[in-house]
Amino acid sequence: MRLDLLKRFVFSSPKKQINLLKNYWAYFIGSPRVGGLPSRLMIEPANFCNLKCPTCPVGNGAIKKAKGAMSLENFQKIIDEAGDYLYHLTLWNWGEPFLNRELARMIKCARQKNIYAVTSTNGHFLDEKSCADLIDCGLNELIIALDGLSQETLSQYRVGADFKKIVQGIKNLVELKKAKASRYPIIQLQFIAMKHNQPEIGKLEEFGRSLGVDKAVLKTFGSQLDMGRLKEFEPTEKQFSRYARQAKRKKSCRNIYLGMNINYDGTAVPCCYDPLESQALGNVFASSVKEVWQGKKFENFRQAVIKSKNAVSICANCDYNAKIRKNIYNRA
Ligand code: SF4
Repeated sequence: MRLDLLKRFVFSSPKKQINLLKNYWAYFIGSPRVGGLPSRLMIEPANFCNLKCPTCPVGNGAIKKAKGAMSLENFQKIIDEAGDYLYHLTLWNWGEPFLNRELARMIKCARQKNIYAVTSTNGHFLDEKSCADLIDCGLNELIIALDGLSQETLSQYRVGADFKKIVQGIKNLVELKKAKASRYPIIQLQFIAMKHNQPEIGKLEEFGRSLGVDKAVLKTFGSQLDMGRLKEFEPTEKQFSRYARQAKRKKSCRNIYLGMNINYDGTAVPCCYDPLESQALGNVFASSVKEVWQGKKFENFRQAVIKSKNAVSICANCDYNAKIRKNIYNRA
């Protein structure tokens, strides 16, 4: 276990600790049934975006469901039900989280329950007011996706992106953090390695340090749905390719014993590998987080994964157990 995770465990409440141990126990004995509640959640603040990235199911229109954003009231319902058991909250799934105006208030509400909160952005909404809100709400970590060190490189995949605006946004946040002498949010610059940006990978460390971000991370390129277009963007250098390196897959899946994803309208799915909700487990607004987590649909899904991960359609391209991120540097 990583030291920061161990610390979080030790300094959390007995409720969180016992619940986590119960979830791990179900995983280790290979039971499809779990007691308790999730130890972590991925919640989708909004399912629309300002960019049109070609293999993203939001950007290319593969997700056909109505566009929408989660209300603060609905978010609060989730936290009221599960907050006492949660260690980690990831605030994104499909779409740009900052397009939900309640984002900072949601984070504040999660932080009041001592939940480690992380969100991610394409970096276009980091004006001074939004940066101040992010620091004041107690966000622990912000991932800023920037996979190009020039406008030309960036917009080859991030269609519609504005390089200067993103860089200015990062500077705003770095400066305000300094001015407020705040350790948080940890600012992570995330660069997804692709065919066209490979030559810039070597300059990432210098670029990140010059901007003053806490971490620069290199991530491999993957696709949940559009495997057909994967070749177009997949790096030619093997060391940067997720699929060339993925020799071994674990048989089991720890992810579905620790948490689940809740989309903006309350639909719960096992993980982020189900953008079309083909394995919908229920709706937490129509019922409750506990009913979905312990429900028959989730139990059947866990059973199917235990039996054969390869036979479950959404698991076919999953790399959950593979290392897909590498720190270029980390001074957080
Ligand atoms: S795709 Fe399947 S194996 Fe991968 S995290 Fe989701 S449920 Fe687990």
